[in-house]
Amino acid sequence: MTEHYVIIGNGVAGNEAACHLRQRDPESRITIITAGRLLFYSRYELPRLFHEDCDWRDFLVNPVEYYVENRINVRRNSFVTHVDAQRKSINLAHKESISYSQLLVASGGATNLPAELSDFAPLLNRFNLYTAACQVRDILPKKGKVVMLGGDVLGLDLARNLINEGYQVILVATEQTFWPHRVDPDERKLLLGALTDMGVEVIENAKIETIQEGAPGMSARHILFDDGCEIFADVVMPFFGLLPAADFMMGSGVDFERGLLVGTNLRTTDPSIWAAGDVCQIWSPEENQYRFYYGWQNVKKMGEIAARNMTGDDIHWETATDHKMYIDENRQIVSPYWEHD
Ligand SMILES: Cc1cc2nc3c(=O)[nH]c(=O)nc-3n(C[C@H](O)[C@H](O)[C@H](O)COP(=O)(O)OP(=O)(O)OC[C@H]3O[C@@H](n4cnc5c(N)ncnc54)[C@H](O)[C@@H]3O)c2cc1C
Repeated sequence: MTEHYVIIGNGVAGNEAACHLRQRDPESRITIITAGRLLFYSRYELPRLFHEDCDWRDFLVNPVEYYVENRINVRRNSFVTHVDAQRKSINLAHKESISYSQLLVASGGATNLPAELSDFAPLLNRFNLYTAACQVRDILPKKGKVVMLGGDVLGLDLARNLINEGYQVILVATEQTFWPHRVDPDERKLLLGALTDMGVEVIENAKIETIQEGAPGMSARHILFDDGCEIFADVVMPFFGLLPAADFMMGSGVDFERGLLVGTNLRTTDPSIWAAGDVCQIWSPEENQYRFYYGWQNVKKMGEIAARNMTGDDIHWETATDHKMYIDENRQIVSPYWEHD
């Protein structure tokens, strides 16, 4: 019988898996489901919007023809609400249900927003999607001021690009600064110093009291801290790392902790469901715990391993070395997460 591989997620992991599934099972049906409206594009390159005249076409990783030639059906604008592991089907928000013979969950991560800031969510600008990035570009005046809350590696990548383009960046540092790098207190001090040298204004140990809309004719945002200090800015952006996007797996019977739990072969506790990318926590025999591995190369490798195992191989994830953040000879911060192909 022809296999129907369904992949939830149109990112690096899902697309890498689809490519290997097609090579290894030429007769199969492959369907990628995504909540997004665009084909697979590189979010890593979104900071280019600030220094190049480009649009969404410039970010696409594969041309449209690639999907036709490889018979990979991409269902866009389709939000998965539930997975029924017993019936081997998934439900979409628009009430459609799709059956699978094997399912790969590669739904990535969503922007993490600490609970104490949730009331201010409508006043915060994200940078997680092409449309969100365009919005920031469009509202930011020349040499405008951006306040970054947290400062994970995605935010710091944007910060260095903004500084190079003449914008002002203020970083309100928190425990998520440099996420997902593991940084000890001495390293943190040095890295924050290097950020200051790069032109980022760093604020530490500050608790936000409130974020408000600016008065007409003034800066669009006003942040008040509990010590009475205040900042006016054009844009305020949260960068507190990512949370696995796996709510739709609730009630599916598959084990999860923060992400979907998988063995080193990337199979979940259900024999027909696999997971790869930012959504999964892989068993690490060395550390005796499940853990996340981020970054383009790691996630791509997971997509390949899952696809190969879904088609009969038995290969395993080997613990990757932790990416270290460092300061180069020009006093610039470098993160291996910023390297991708
Ligand atoms: C703006 C941005 C920039 C980044 N830059 C870097 C970087 O420079 N370096 C780095 O190492 N990492 C970076 N990352 C992290 C990086 O995204 C990941 O490590 C990697 O790309 C994750 O790939 P993925 O395939 O697991 O998931 P993603 O690329 O996040 O893809 C998830 C897919 O799942 C879909 N999805 C989620 N939930 C549902 C649902 N319920 N129904 C249907 N579809 C759903 C989404 O629409 C999306 O298509 C960045 C992340 C963001 C958000």
